[in-house]
Amino acid sequence: MITGKNYIGDVISASGGKTYKTFNPELNEENNTVFTEATQEEINNAVSLASQAFKEYRSISGKQKATFLNTIADEILALDNELIETYCSETGLPEGRAKGERGRTVFQLRSFAELVAEGSWVEATIDTAIPTREPLPKSDIRKLSIPLGPVVVFGASNFPLAYSTAGGDTAAALASGCPVIVKSHPMHAGTGELVASAIIKAAEKTNMPKGVFSNLNSSGIEVGQQLVSHPKVKAVGFTGSIRGGRALLDLAAKREEPIPVFAEMGSVNPVIILPKALQNRSESLANTYANSITLGAGQFCTNPGLILGIKSEELTNFTNELASNIVEISPSSMLHPNIVAAYESNKEKALAQSGLIVVGNYEDEVQSNYATQIVTTVEGKTFLENTTLHQEVFGPFSMVVQCESAAQLEKIISQLEGQLTGTVISDENELPEYKPTIDALQNRVGRIIFNGVPTGVEVCPSMVHGGPYPASTDSRFTAVGIDSIKRWVRPFSYQDWPNELLPDELKNENPLQISRSVNGNFTKSNIE
Ligand code: NAP
Repeated sequence: MITGKNYIGDVISASGGKTYKTFNPELNEENNTVFTEATQEEINNAVSLASQAFKEYRSISGKQKATFLNTIADEILALDNELIETYCSETGLPEGRAKGERGRTVFQLRSFAELVAEGSWVEATIDTAIPTREPLPKSDIRKLSIPLGPVVVFGASNFPLAYSTAGGDTAAALASGCPVIVKSHPMHAGTGELVASAIIKAAEKTNMPKGVFSNLNSSGIEVGQQLVSHPKVKAVGFTGSIRGGRALLDLAAKREEPIPVFAEMGSVNPVIILPKALQNRSESLANTYANSITLGAGQFCTNPGLILGIKSEELTNFTNELASNIVEISPSSMLHPNIVAAYESNKEKALAQSGLIVVGNYEDEVQSNYATQIVTTVEGKTFLENTTLHQEVFGPFSMVVQCESAAQLEKIISQLEGQLTGTVISDENELPEYKPTIDALQNRVGRIIFNGVPTGVEVCPSMVHGGPYPASTDSRFTAVGIDSIKRWVRPFSYQDWPNELLPDELKNENPLQISRSVNGNFTKSNIE
């Protein structure tokens, strides 16, 4: 049942006076439940409990954490239709998407469970002592990854399950040994509360310490600011706008003890279509891209907002074909009136720039909160001179840049801001000819795609979902896949520590049978 209250560990609390409701964009009306924003006292209680829980949770075994994570997945599935119906009523997204995202959330939780049950993820590194070394003896040094402490996770508006309450950031932080306090996203507070209740049930069933997880409601920026400023919070995970992510990064840097903020923010995801591919298949590419641009009303961080090619008859054909395909697609609802308003105003700002031409625009009347898609085009020189055109328009918007030459294409790519992805469409081995452009692209993005679309982010160990700023605040880490656990840990060394007092991961006998680096060799063997 959705109460509209905060979860301070396993205590349900609503002592504040500020309330709000979520919104059904399909029906264009508020949902019924009243949510109460967390007070400063409730925030302090959640953080203090998390800090207390950390003392125990930090050294809980990988197998126990795996049981906790798998039980969260089971409890989420047990929410069944109530979760799916709430998700749809708070987002306007269809049931298929809700179920798909639930599947992804459960898969992520189980992947982290498998990772920590096996245990090698801590990257145990052992250099044994050499007492006879001259001129000085060498100590025994052993290193592993240890958790940072309580983590604050900001739920993402565009992924109410997979990147929110029990999403990738939360699953990774809990797997690493960090308690989590979620700053619930106001647009899907009911979905968030249901998932929070599943996490609390799982924590109780698996005897996790009280305060290992809390869920706080908020409908403004204050709760998030207070959480990020709290001295007992040790790291932050965020998905959303550049403005929001940057504000939190700056706030965290100004603290007496600065802490890391792992924010995944905006991206226009450049797509380069090389000449031979345009010659061979401009029609099918236009069809594929019309679908990718409008997928989920363009509300994906990997949406292709920028398509680049070298001026030619074929590029003109592609652009016209893309325009005629895109207006054939039925518009769909955006997540919330605020996102629609942001889309409209960012679109208006882009369209006001001189030299930007509209080639395809869905003009029929649509329901309230529906996004109408648009394709524009611009000359390479104009694009280079006006960085406003480089900014993300979050929604079903894309811009085709007509470059004068390969040299201009390379220059544009090298001047783009950091991006999550870059895509190259190419035929007949033309890639080597464009090596400088591909090199420039690699320097700007976190993931490079060949002959595909950037939308659709596979959850697997080799995935990188991040990139140079402002795609993310720290390009060394991914927000998707099991490697995202590395954001919530720090390396720690023991020097000449007694074997029996070392964590199991570093003991001579290797009781967990994990892979370790011992004197430079990877092995599961024990140390004699
Ligand atoms: P947002 O405005 O960045 O907000 C995300 C979360 O951060 C919300 O919970 C918000 O709190 C909080 N927040 C924002 N600014 C803050 C600040 N200065 N201090 C403390 N907390 C702050 O993103 P959104 O609500 O998800 O969507 C709005 C826009 O973000 C979209 O129109 C889109 O442009 C962009 N967006 C981009 C991506 C992407 O992947 N590229 C994904 C989602 C959204 P409150 O809501 O409570 O104010």
